[in-house]
Amino acid sequence: MDRRQWMTTVAALGPLAAATSADRDGAQTQAKPAVLDLKDFQPRSMLQVPATKVPRAKFPVIDFHTHLGFSAKGVAGVPHGEERRFAAPPEELLAVMDRVNLRTMVNLTGGVGAGLQESIKRFQTAHPGRFITFTEPRYSDANGPDYPRMQADEIERAHKLGARGLKVLKTLGLYLREQITSGPLVKIDDKRFDPMWEACAANRMPVAIHISDPEAFFLPIDRHNERFEELNAHPDWSFYGKDFPTTRELFEARNRVFARHPKTTFVALHVGHKAEDLRYVGECLDKYANMHVEIGARVGELGRQPRSARRFFDRYQDRILFGTDAVPHGTQTPQQIFGDALYEIYYRFLETEDEYFDYAPAPTPPQGRWQIYGIALPDGILRKVYNENAGRILGV
Ligand SMILES: [Zn+2]
Repeated sequence: MDRRQWMTTVAALGPLAAATSADRDGAQTQAKPAVLDLKDFQPRSMLQVPATKVPRAKFPVIDFHTHLGFSAKGVAGVPHGEERRFAAPPEELLAVMDRVNLRTMVNLTGGVGAGLQESIKRFQTAHPGRFITFTEPRYSDANGPDYPRMQADEIERAHKLGARGLKVLKTLGLYLREQITSGPLVKIDDKRFDPMWEACAANRMPVAIHISDPEAFFLPIDRHNERFEELNAHPDWSFYGKDFPTTRELFEARNRVFARHPKTTFVALHVGHKAEDLRYVGECLDKYANMHVEIGARVGELGRQPRSARRFFDRYQDRILFGTDAVPHGTQTPQQIFGDALYEIYYRFLETEDEYFDYAPAPTPPQGRWQIYGIALPDGILRKVYNENAGRILGV
């Protein structure tokens, strides 16, 4: 009904319409629907259900996915140089860690060269057992003729410095180009990286890999997009159109890497970057014995399909790692702001049967407008997910 039809209908109804505009206390309510900006809509649930406080995890936790520093310089999504910016001093983090029963944080973005050395010294060396550091590929040299060998040697050097794994951001597949920042996109299974994957296996360094984003990020930003508000606020997060590959192409290239390097341990971050489709993630886990997954920033996805998620945790309990993608002071991503509130949400999801609660410490759900449900994992699975699986992979 358009506005004109609506006016006509109201006029035709006459006194009846007027009567419905007053509630039972006689207070006037609006006679016509108000217009409300979606961003201002912050409904409060009237549901009366148990709400469990879980400020501390039942067992000690290894957070396999955190970012304590970033490359100071980047061009078109590709890090340049060795300089790092750090998000917070270790002392600030340790206070939260002790409160929430977080034994160890894995800082995936440790960087390269002098920046890596600084990351290691600042966190890992200063606080043994509490922080672990990963290195990253040196993408800014990826078009050189010696790159394949040089990158493999670099992994070994990083390992000697104390790096315990390699982080591969979605730079590979979605940002890195043949002339670094221009030309065609470099494919995830490009052969120049083969010596790098092999060097990780030789040095017993797991690879934390992230190659794709939520399905909705590859679709038009329109009224049918379930991540509309997020993409509308951050249009640069969209991989729709231009020369971006489809998610299918990204996953197939990733799977070829898994298949080609069976001795390398891969941890596919964000529930295999396909939390909307646990059946597919399961198929990949069945196929690639060297694949694991981590749950960072996807508790909103897992928690909106609690029965599927529970079955997934049952079936793959030896291959799921706890992670949050936490960023200290990370205000751009409310679902990842490091702090007590973030960990409590993950613990509540994993440990309780609570229903319909927020998946992020934010006034409105930042990754889609829905609420989540706990999956109440038994102790045996909780221990594996909280620390045993990560401990085994990291050799700690
Ligand atoms: Zn991350």
